[in-house]
Amino acid sequence: MHDVILVGGGPVGLYAAILLRQAGLDVLVLEQRTTRSNHSRAIGIHPPALQALAEAGVADELMLRGVKIREGVARSAGREVTRLSFTGLPGDYPFVLAVPQVQTEQVLEDRLAEVAPGSFRRGVEVTGVFDTGPSMLVTTASGEVLQAQLVIGADGGKSTVRASAGVTSSMQHYPDTYLMGDFADTSEDRSSAVLYLEPGGIVESFPLPDGVRRWVVRTPSLIGCPTAGMLGQLILDRTGVSVDVGSTSMLSAFGVHRRLARRFVVGRTVLIGDAAHQVSPIGGQGMNLGWLDVTALVPIITASLIDGADVGQALAAFDAGRRGAAMTAARQAHLNMALGRPLPAPVLTLRNALFGRCNRVPAVHDTIARTFTMQ
Ligand SMILES: Cc1cc2nc3c(=O)[nH]c(=O)nc-3n(C[C@H](O)[C@H](O)[C@H](O)COP(=O)(O)OP(=O)(O)OC[C@H]3O[C@@H](n4cnc5c(N)ncnc54)[C@H](O)[C@@H]3O)c2cc1C
Repeated sequence: MHDVILVGGGPVGLYAAILLRQAGLDVLVLEQRTTRSNHSRAIGIHPPALQALAEAGVADELMLRGVKIREGVARSAGREVTRLSFTGLPGDYPFVLAVPQVQTEQVLEDRLAEVAPGSFRRGVEVTGVFDTGPSMLVTTASGEVLQAQLVIGADGGKSTVRASAGVTSSMQHYPDTYLMGDFADTSEDRSSAVLYLEPGGIVESFPLPDGVRRWVVRTPSLIGCPTAGMLGQLILDRTGVSVDVGSTSMLSAFGVHRRLARRFVVGRTVLIGDAAHQVSPIGGQGMNLGWLDVTALVPIITASLIDGADVGQALAAFDAGRRGAAMTAARQAHLNMALGRPLPAPVLTLRNALFGRCNRVPAVHDTIARTFTMQ
């Protein structure tokens, strides 16, 4: 009988397992993949999440591996529209840290192996979760039946735990589609994030470790068989910037949607991360949001399983609070996507001028900087 079984060893499940173990609980993480996914996803770690990761003893290692983005620059038609500085942000981490998700997961997995050796099992696909009264039963594809006091579903957007608990979710597809790729960084922008607000749609570029830069371009429709040449041409046509297409290390075309589980807590099953809520990646908040679910949840679990406290009300507050945070993040992502949609050049010029003027007001600048960094 384990205290907690976590289904899913992505960034959110791994982080939750570390904090629960540090709090003195026995944890088991079940992950269906036999190896870590190299599919490139999250890069941005925001200040509140860095604070949370410091509690798990991994913030320093991530900072060694990442690039500190201290400002964002908006450009249009070759001119600067405005700048957003993060250096005045409160707290210990006045920047957004850019680290590829695969490396973040590696750091978390290493840390979990330190604090709870043998607690992470790969190649185990969970098929169902059942509340039997005395304990929770977790079944696997290989026919194992495991027991725990509590089950946490951190098994991503297609969550088996969510389905097994009978929780439905609302889903919204957006019309926005993107093409994304990593190239050698030949720009002068170094550690700045750059948004090109252009009539054909937004182009974003972010620094990554090892002299790489990620480019994300809004496309009129989902590109079926993308090539580096296509992405390079789109970037050149919209921004005038020429990337080295021969240096591509990743290429991906994607559409976006949001999903919200109708409940995050059902009896002794709790959903966190993408299993509970998926937000559009434009704005880079999904993984961060999942980590913040964990910091809210762990004290409740320890109060229940270690101190024997009645945590019914605290769990209800967790459910409502994290649902609110997910809806706020979804609204923010919605705004970010709207900012990047194509506009006729005269309207875009007016909008950009207004945006630049507003951002020159210190209070507005600081509010935008805090909003972009989840504070
Ligand atoms: C292009 C893109 C860019 C993004 N950029 C950012 C960003 O900059 N910042 C940010 O915060 N977020 C970003 N995100 C979102 C981020 O990637 C996700 O929010 C994050 O991966 C969610 O983590 P998770 O651990 O909840 O779920 P996942 O990463 O999906 O992990 C779930 C794990 O559960 C495992 N699993 C699933 N089912 C089972 C089962 N039945 N049994 C056992 N294991 C199972 C899966 O194999 C997987 O390893 C981006 C997403 C995309 C697509």
